Amino acid sequence: MEATIGGGRRSSSSRAYLTEAATRPNLTIRVEAQTQRLILEGRRAVGVEYRDAGGLHQVFASGEVVLSSGTYNSPQILMLSSIGPRRQLEALGIDCVLDLPGVGQNLSEHPNLIMVFGAKKRVGLTKWLRYDRTAAAAARWFLRHDGVFATNSAAANIFIRTRVGLDRPDMQMICMSVNNTATMWFPGLTPPPLFGFSARVGALHPLSRGAVSLRSADPGEPPRILFNLLQAPEDMATMTAGVRACRRIYGTHPQKELVGGEFFPGSAVQGDAELAELIRRNATHRSHPVGTCRMGLDDLAVVDAKLRVHGIEGLRVADASVFPEVPSGNTNVPSIMVGEKAADLLKGREPSVASQRDERPEWTFAGH
Ligand SMILES: Cc1cc2nc3c(=O)[nH]c(=O)nc-3n(C[C@H](O)[C@H](O)[C@H](O)COP(=O)(O)OP(=O)(O)OC[C@H]3O[C@@H](n4cnc5c(N)ncnc54)[C@H](O)[C@@H]3O)c2cc1C
Repeated sequence: MEATIGGGRRSSSSRAYLTEAATRPNLTIRVEAQTQRLILEGRRAVGVEYRDAGGLHQVFASGEVVLSSGTYNSPQILMLSSIGPRRQLEALGIDCVLDLPGVGQNLSEHPNLIMVFGAKKRVGLTKWLRYDRTAAAAARWFLRHDGVFATNSAAANIFIRTRVGLDRPDMQMICMSVNNTATMWFPGLTPPPLFGFSARVGALHPLSRGAVSLRSADPGEPPRILFNLLQAPEDMATMTAGVRACRRIYGTHPQKELVGGEFFPGSAVQGDAELAELIRRNATHRSHPVGTCRMGLDDLAVVDAKLRVHGIEGLRVADASVFPEVPSGNTNVPSIMVGEKAADLLKGREPSVASQRDERPEWTFAGH
């Protein structure tokens, strides 16, 4: 499975980009600092107000302001800066400089259900959770940055179509060779965890939409997040189909030879209604929130194709909040791609020839 790991360490965008750039004379990094709001002159963004241990500060832009606080906080900062749905802002006593009703709307996320299967043999990562083996693996990682702790422990990333006729996969399963609730154990003192496998089953193109809204005009207050996961019946149908597809895969050679029964939800849960009830009670999200400053040209769009906020000069948003909908997979690399694109736009670089081609990729995934 592909992962952003370099030299045995998971590589954040901070590690991958900022570490190298940190010494540039034209870059100042402020940490432990919280942006309170953007500074506007009329309908032009000219700077940022932030708070740190030393108090409140203002910095001004010679060019443009780029907002990149993620799907929850970018809309929060826009709204705290008087840009957003007028009624919501005025209800909290915030003057509305620009009525942009789409700010905070269109929250799109992958629903996620973790299925657990037992193992017939003592295979997989569980054996590394015995405390002495954990200590040895941790020491190895610390000294050499390799071994079992230099991976993200996902064994496979499966994309499938749950129905005939779909032009692209609608379901992702992230397969781990460990039971998701397994913890370290101490022989003689605590029982070993269940040796098993887990599969994170998630619909790739959910229709349900949530929203991020302000709780208060105080930037120190987190925003309100409402997912509305599985609100659309289509999303639930995809999830139940995904559970069944996962059962088929784990019941097929070669997994079949390793799997010793379904622990969760359990093979007794079969009917559509039963499965739906179970999914509704147990599904979570995948930490792939996007869409609250959606790109587009309609009335509910927040940014244009060049990431510029509609109606405000000198302001772009560059993070996962601009995606119109959640991508068909994990969101870290697509978010980094938005950052790369923003850098090109700021520097006035032309799109590469490849990205100008109008070609749809040919799907080569096997159908069911
Ligand atoms: C637990 C977890 C696991 C994940 N695992 C994976 C994975 O395995 N693979 C994958 O592809 N994706 C994964 N993701 C998703 C991925 O991390 C996100 O899609 C991606 O980071 C989104 O990038 P972003 O720039 O939009 O937002 P973020 O990465 O959230 O960046 C926003 C930044 O803004 C800062 N910020 C917010 N508000 C303020 C403020 N007021 N002032 C100053 N700074 C502020 C935040 O601290 C943060 O550093 C995971 C997410 C989580 C939470």
